[in-house]
Amino acid sequence: MPESRAPSIEESLNCLSIEPDKSQRQENLKKEVTDLEKHQRFIRIAKVTSLRSKDPNTQVGCVIVDKDNCIVSIGYNGFPIGVDDDVFRWDKEDPEDNKHLYVVHAEMNAIINKRCATLHDCVVYVTLFPCNKCAQILIQSRVKKVYYLEDRDELAFRSSKRMLDHSKIPYEQIIMPKEKYVIRL
Ligand SMILES: [Zn+2]
Repeated sequence: MPESRAPSIEESLNCLSIEPDKSQRQENLKKEVTDLEKHQRFIRIAKVTSLRSKDPNTQVGCVIVDKDNCIVSIGYNGFPIGVDDDVFRWDKEDPEDNKHLYVVHAEMNAIINKRCATLHDCVVYVTLFPCNKCAQILIQSRVKKVYYLEDRDELAFRSSKRMLDHSKIPYEQIIMPKEKYVIRL
Protein backbone atom coordinates (compact mmCIF):
# COMPACT_ATOMS: atom_id res chain seq x y z
CA MET A 1 0.00 0.00 0.00
CA PRO A 2 1.51 3.36 -1.02
CA GLU A 3 2.37 5.60 1.85
CA SER A 4 -0.02 8.52 2.04
CA ARG A 5 1.58 11.90 2.36
CA ALA A 6 0.45 15.46 2.38
CA PRO A 7 0.54 17.05 -1.10
CA SER A 8 3.29 19.54 -1.78
CA ILE A 9 2.42 23.19 -2.29
CA GLU A 10 2.94 22.77 -6.04
CA GLU A 11 0.57 19.79 -6.12
CA SER A 12 -2.03 21.70 -4.13
CA LEU A 13 -1.77 24.63 -6.46
CA ASN A 14 -2.16 22.29 -9.43
CA CYS A 15 -5.29 20.85 -7.86
CA LEU A 16 -6.62 24.35 -7.37
CA SER A 17 -5.76 25.62 -10.82
CA ILE A 18 -8.93 26.20 -12.79
CA GLU A 19 -9.04 26.01 -16.53
CA PRO A 20 -10.78 29.16 -17.75
CA ASP A 21 -14.17 28.42 -19.16
CA LYS A 22 -13.79 29.80 -22.67
CA SER A 23 -17.48 30.20 -23.34
CA GLN A 24 -17.94 32.05 -20.04
CA ARG A 25 -14.98 34.31 -20.86
CA GLN A 26 -16.43 35.05 -24.27
CA GLU A 27 -19.76 35.82 -22.65
CA ASN A 28 -18.12 38.15 -20.09
CA LEU A 29 -16.13 39.83 -22.85
CA LYS A 30 -19.26 40.28 -24.90
CA LYS A 31 -21.05 41.80 -21.88
CA GLU A 32 -18.18 44.23 -21.22
CA VAL A 33 -18.19 45.34 -24.83
CA THR A 34 -21.95 45.67 -24.78
CA ASP A 35 -21.88 47.80 -21.61
CA LEU A 36 -19.13 50.02 -23.01
CA GLU A 37 -20.99 50.39 -26.28
CA LYS A 38 -24.12 51.36 -24.36
CA HIS A 39 -22.23 54.05 -22.43
CA GLN A 40 -20.61 55.29 -25.64
CA ARG A 41 -24.03 55.50 -27.29
CA PHE A 42 -25.39 57.78 -24.55
CA ILE A 43 -22.21 59.88 -24.54
CA ARG A 44 -22.66 60.31 -28.31
CA ILE A 45 -26.22 61.57 -27.71
CA ALA A 46 -24.86 63.97 -25.05
CA LYS A 47 -22.24 65.14 -27.54
CA VAL A 48 -24.83 65.79 -30.25
CA THR A 49 -27.01 67.59 -27.66
CA SER A 50 -24.05 69.82 -26.72
CA LEU A 51 -23.90 71.12 -30.29
CA ARG A 52 -27.07 73.11 -29.61
CA SER A 53 -25.22 75.29 -27.09
CA LYS A 54 -24.33 78.78 -28.28
CA ASP A 55 -21.29 78.97 -26.02
CA PRO A 56 -18.39 79.53 -28.43
CA ASN A 57 -15.84 77.98 -26.06
CA THR A 58 -17.48 75.22 -24.04
CA GLN A 59 -20.42 73.27 -25.39
CA VAL A 60 -21.68 70.72 -22.86
CA GLY A 61 -24.41 68.12 -23.28
CA CYS A 62 -26.09 65.96 -20.66
CA VAL A 63 -28.32 62.91 -20.98
CA ILE A 64 -30.11 61.30 -18.03
CA VAL A 65 -31.12 57.67 -18.32
CA ASP A 66 -33.36 55.60 -16.04
CA LYS A 67 -32.76 52.03 -14.84
CA ASP A 68 -34.41 50.67 -18.00
CA ASN A 69 -31.95 52.61 -20.18
CA CYS A 70 -34.66 55.02 -21.31
CA ILE A 71 -33.66 58.65 -21.73
CA VAL A 72 -35.69 60.73 -19.27
CA SER A 73 -34.03 64.08 -19.97
CA ILE A 74 -31.42 65.95 -21.94
CA GLY A 75 -29.88 69.38 -21.52
CA TYR A 76 -27.14 71.67 -22.75
CA ASN A 77 -25.57 74.85 -21.40
CA GLY A 78 -27.31 78.09 -22.29
CA PHE A 79 -28.76 81.28 -20.96
CA PRO A 80 -32.15 81.17 -19.20
CA ILE A 81 -35.34 81.55 -21.23
CA GLY A 82 -35.76 85.15 -22.36
CA VAL A 83 -32.14 86.07 -21.61
CA ASP A 84 -31.16 87.29 -25.04
CA ASP A 85 -27.80 86.23 -26.46
CA ASP A 86 -27.58 89.58 -28.22
CA VAL A 87 -27.77 91.43 -24.90
CA PHE A 88 -25.97 89.00 -22.61
CA ARG A 89 -22.64 88.17 -24.18
CA TRP A 90 -20.67 84.94 -24.07
CA ASP A 91 -17.31 86.72 -23.95
CA LYS A 92 -15.61 87.49 -20.67
CA GLU A 93 -14.03 90.88 -21.37
CA ASP A 94 -16.45 92.87 -19.25
CA PRO A 95 -17.03 91.43 -15.72
CA GLU A 96 -20.71 92.34 -16.06
CA ASP A 97 -20.86 90.14 -19.17
CA ASN A 98 -19.09 87.17 -17.62
CA LYS A 99 -21.11 84.21 -18.87
CA HIS A 100 -20.67 82.33 -15.58
CA LEU A 101 -23.04 84.84 -13.96
CA TYR A 102 -25.86 83.88 -16.31
CA VAL A 103 -25.42 80.48 -17.93
CA VAL A 104 -27.50 77.46 -16.89
CA HIS A 105 -25.33 74.37 -17.06
CA ALA A 106 -26.25 71.28 -19.09
CA GLU A 107 -26.85 69.12 -16.01
CA MET A 108 -29.08 71.79 -14.41
CA ASN A 109 -31.16 72.08 -17.58
CA ALA A 110 -31.42 68.29 -17.83
CA ILE A 111 -32.62 68.04 -14.22
CA ILE A 112 -35.15 70.85 -14.71
CA ASN A 113 -36.40 69.34 -18.01
CA LYS A 114 -36.88 65.82 -16.66
CA ARG A 115 -39.97 63.92 -17.76
CA CYS A 116 -40.25 61.75 -14.69
CA ALA A 117 -41.14 62.25 -11.05
CA THR A 118 -37.71 61.50 -9.65
CA LEU A 119 -34.14 60.96 -10.82
CA HIS A 120 -33.51 58.50 -8.02
CA ASP A 121 -31.26 55.71 -9.38
CA CYS A 122 -30.94 57.36 -12.78
CA VAL A 123 -27.57 57.52 -14.54
CA VAL A 124 -26.06 60.72 -15.91
CA TYR A 125 -24.02 61.00 -19.10
CA VAL A 126 -22.24 64.30 -19.58
CA THR A 127 -19.59 65.50 -22.02
CA LEU A 128 -17.69 67.48 -19.35
CA PHE A 129 -17.28 66.46 -15.71
CA PRO A 130 -19.96 68.17 -13.57
CA CYS A 131 -18.81 71.32 -11.78
CA ASN A 132 -19.31 71.72 -8.01
CA LYS A 133 -22.70 73.44 -8.38
CA CYS A 134 -24.03 70.72 -10.69
CA ALA A 135 -22.61 68.00 -8.44
CA GLN A 136 -24.62 69.47 -5.56
CA ILE A 137 -27.93 69.09 -7.39
CA LEU A 138 -27.02 65.72 -8.89
CA ILE A 139 -26.31 64.47 -5.37
CA GLN A 140 -29.55 65.97 -4.06
CA SER A 141 -31.40 64.32 -6.97
CA ARG A 142 -29.97 60.96 -5.81
CA VAL A 143 -28.57 59.93 -9.18
CA LYS A 144 -26.81 56.59 -9.17
CA LYS A 145 -23.69 57.22 -11.27
CA VAL A 146 -22.05 59.80 -13.52
CA TYR A 147 -20.35 58.88 -16.80
CA TYR A 148 -18.33 61.65 -18.40
CA LEU A 149 -16.23 62.26 -21.47
CA GLU A 150 -13.80 65.06 -20.57
CA ASP A 151 -12.36 66.38 -17.36
CA ARG A 152 -10.43 69.47 -16.26
CA ASP A 153 -7.98 69.93 -13.42
CA GLU A 154 -9.74 72.96 -11.93
CA LEU A 155 -11.04 73.76 -8.45
CA ALA A 156 -14.69 73.46 -9.51
CA PHE A 157 -14.10 69.90 -10.71
CA ARG A 158 -11.84 68.85 -7.84
CA SER A 159 -14.40 70.03 -5.29
CA SER A 160 -17.11 68.28 -7.29
CA LYS A 161 -15.19 65.00 -7.01
CA ARG A 162 -14.76 65.49 -3.26
CA MET A 163 -18.53 65.85 -2.84
CA LEU A 164 -19.35 62.90 -5.11
CA ASP A 165 -16.79 60.74 -3.27
CA HIS A 166 -18.28 61.61 0.11
CA SER A 167 -21.79 61.02 -1.18
CA LYS A 168 -20.63 57.68 -2.58
CA ILE A 169 -21.80 58.48 -6.09
CA PRO A 170 -19.35 56.82 -8.47
CA TYR A 171 -18.13 58.44 -11.66
CA GLU A 172 -16.37 56.95 -14.64
CA GLN A 173 -14.73 58.36 -17.72
CA ILE A 174 -15.85 56.87 -21.01
CA ILE A 175 -13.20 56.57 -23.67
CA MET A 176 -14.66 56.96 -27.10
CA PRO A 177 -13.36 55.29 -30.24
CA LYS A 178 -11.77 57.65 -32.74
CA GLU A 179 -14.70 58.72 -34.84
CA LYS A 180 -15.82 61.69 -36.83
CA TYR A 181 -19.22 63.24 -36.33
CA VAL A 182 -20.89 64.33 -39.53
CA ILE A 183 -24.27 65.93 -39.01
CA ARG A 184 -26.22 66.95 -42.05
CA LEU A 185 -29.25 69.11 -41.34
ZN1 LIG B 1 -22.06 72.75 -13.79
